[in-house]
Amino acid sequence: MIRKLIGKVLRRPGRQVLHAKHYGVRREHIHHGALKVCDRLQDAGFEAYVVGGAVRDLILGKHPKDFDVATNATPEQVKHVFHRARIIGRRFRIVHVPFWEHGEEEIIEVTTFRGASDAPTDATGRILRDNVYGNIEEDAARRDFTVNALYYDPSREEILDFHHGVDDLTGRKLAMIGDPSLRYREDPVRMLRAVRLSAKLGLTITPLTRKPIPELAPLLENIPSARLFDEMMKLLFSGKAWDCLMTLREHGLHKPLFPLLDKLLSEPATKAFLQKALANTDTRIAEDKPVSAGFLFAALLWHEVEALWQKKTAASEYPVPALVDAMNEVEDKVEKRLAIPKRYGTAMKEIWMLQPRFEQRIGQRPFRLMEQPRFRAGYDFLLLRAECGLVEAELAEWWTQFQMVDGDSRLAMIARVANPAKSDKKPRKRRRKPRAADAAGDAE
Ligand code: ATP
Ligand code: MG
Repeated sequence: MIRKLIGKVLRRPGRQVLHAKHYGVRREHIHHGALKVCDRLQDAGFEAYVVGGAVRDLILGKHPKDFDVATNATPEQVKHVFHRARIIGRRFRIVHVPFWEHGEEEIIEVTTFRGASDAPTDATGRILRDNVYGNIEEDAARRDFTVNALYYDPSREEILDFHHGVDDLTGRKLAMIGDPSLRYREDPVRMLRAVRLSAKLGLTITPLTRKPIPELAPLLENIPSARLFDEMMKLLFSGKAWDCLMTLREHGLHKPLFPLLDKLLSEPATKAFLQKALANTDTRIAEDKPVSAGFLFAALLWHEVEALWQKKTAASEYPVPALVDAMNEVEDKVEKRLAIPKRYGTAMKEIWMLQPRFEQRIGQRPFRLMEQPRFRAGYDFLLLRAECGLVEAELAEWWTQFQMVDGDSRLAMIARVANPAKSDKKPRKRRRKPRAADAAGDAE
């Protein structure tokens, strides 16, 4: 008891066993697959716990995104218990146990306790492989933040807390386990995780954990672009995308990841555009609606594409090839830092290519545009541009109306654009970028 108290005061690591129910964590909150994995591994004589983010989120009264299990069984032993399990990863071997939920496959990730022994590192201190197994205490010490080193035992309904994670959760603190500088060097992505988790969970990064970040931010340049893309996705779809980007910038972490951010924020219209795009995403996530990564990346990079496109057309390149070139150049530039997977990249480019076509309101073109599979996303993108003054509001209003009215009225609307003098309304000024409009014509 006294040792526990001293440990608490001095914040020495040590096992604390807590009644899970007392913290609002119950068996029924746990994914049935994760429960099954724990129960069956325990029946087979192993230790098995729900670990990390799921326990943290449940204590905070939030709905966990995923349920991970940690065990002292080796990957091969886990596979022996679950024949359909797959061992994956090289740098960090883990086991995927598949379950079926509402006709869809869901994966429970099972990791074997990592050991404390020195893992091989590169010249910057980055851990290259981490496949040395150990016991639960060692595993807890290898996790990133104190609030992530929590283990829930569903059969005993207990939480094992090795680094005062529950205290930190109650105090709303995000603290690195061990020496923050060393831990960031081992894996620089932990800097991004600190930003995301603090924004998403409303936790304050403690001064010691925050201090080394600006100096170590450039280490992110050594991280493979596919992993950075995954982290960027997690940031953007955290439900607090704007806060995450602002915190990234505050710590200088946006530079290796998304250097365009400074330029976007320096102009009120592009800043408003980005903020609106991210706010829409956050709202959709809060309402449990699907979100499109292609749309979001289209918004994040549009300014760069548009600027380059205008430069190229001003240098008398034909508009459509100029737009395609601008898109490809921006994609290549971004690719070095963030490997945007092809499926998102294609959607993003389709949304961009539709933009000049909205300006073509003659003949059959508006009808043909509406038949495009990506029309809806392109139209939403146009609305967003209009809301921020990046394109005439009249154009977006026209398209909103065009979709609502019947065929004859549509023809009348097109006629009015062609010949505004005949319109019963006052003629309206149209700010139209001739080259952009021509581009759309060429595109057909
Ligand atoms: P969320 O799932 O809500 O994004 P999380 O903390 O659960 O957040 P995961 O990627 O699911 O993140 O990781 C599960 C657990 O694995 C974490 O809670 C943490 O204990 C550990 N972990 C993940 N990434 C790292 C890392 N880079 N370094 C050390 N431990 C990590
Ligand atoms: Mg998780």
